[in-house]
Amino acid sequence: MKYKHLFGPILSRRLGMSLGVDLVPAKICNLDCVYCECGRTNNKTMELATYVDPDAIIAELDDLLSGMPPHIDIITFTGSGEPTLNIGLGKIESFLREKYPQYNLGILTNSGLLTNPEVRKNLLGFDYVLPSLDAMFEESFIRVNNPVDGQKCDDIIEGIRSFAQEYKGIIWVEVFILPGVNDTPEELAAFKAFFEEVRPTRIQINSMDRPGTCSWVEAPPMERLIEIEEYFKPLPVEIISRKAKEVDFAASSQIDFEHIMNAIFRRPLTPEDLSVSYGCSINEIDAVMDRLISVGRIEKIRTGNRFFYRVTEHEKKERGI
Ligand code: SF4
Repeated sequence: MKYKHLFGPILSRRLGMSLGVDLVPAKICNLDCVYCECGRTNNKTMELATYVDPDAIIAELDDLLSGMPPHIDIITFTGSGEPTLNIGLGKIESFLREKYPQYNLGILTNSGLLTNPEVRKNLLGFDYVLPSLDAMFEESFIRVNNPVDGQKCDDIIEGIRSFAQEYKGIIWVEVFILPGVNDTPEELAAFKAFFEEVRPTRIQINSMDRPGTCSWVEAPPMERLIEIEEYFKPLPVEIISRKAKEVDFAASSQIDFEHIMNAIFRRPLTPEDLSVSYGCSINEIDAVMDRLISVGRIEKIRTGNRFFYRVTEHEKKERGI
């Protein structure tokens, strides 16, 4: 079976070997963040709908997990937009809980729909919820997250506050730092006061790592991230860093072109990411990627001092994006 809505498992910096479940097509989201790895949002909406049929996703999951699945640390609901916009999310989560309870379930959300009690209810069964919070003030919220009309920074804050009161699992809140935009002393103080109140399991400081949608977005120096980390302490805080991880992934050591394309379609990946995910050398990865480059499906770009593979505009058109 070819999978349209699953990708990976790939090595996630935060979650280990993660099987991705894509609940919305590219690119439907309530935000249009300047750092987004999935490109610009062309359908900015708050409307809950069946953007992808949950039964189609369930069929793919069942096919993969009932066979001889590769090593998976976690099944993560994420992908090409905001997963909580899919009204069928709860159905998929219930299916996995009943039929494959051995897997941890995680979800990445931009927190924009957490003021909706139904959306919060759908997330209560997850082991890990990773909400984003990039601003405490409206001005920086608009600059960083570029929201749909009517969405306010206070909605995000209030949504996380309400969810944290109801949820018993693990919450890792991610803050994406844009130097000079959301790291003023006032904004950092507001973040800290909020985290002291809400007490997430962990605060994760992120910064530009892969190519985003806006060229002006740059990573702050590591010293600045360390300063912010120190400022948030003694709260449980960490800088998310790219740590190579030893993973037994022999089951997938044969490189499958479409498997790789599905992963890169969701976000640009480095040769190192692919090497760890597929259990083969960087030279082997580069040889495969050169073939995909030669037929115009992907391109190799440089961001800072790192190289990434990403899909070409031609490939996007082929996929109807
Ligand atoms: S980073 Fe997430 S929340 Fe922001 S635009 Fe991309 S998909 Fe939407």
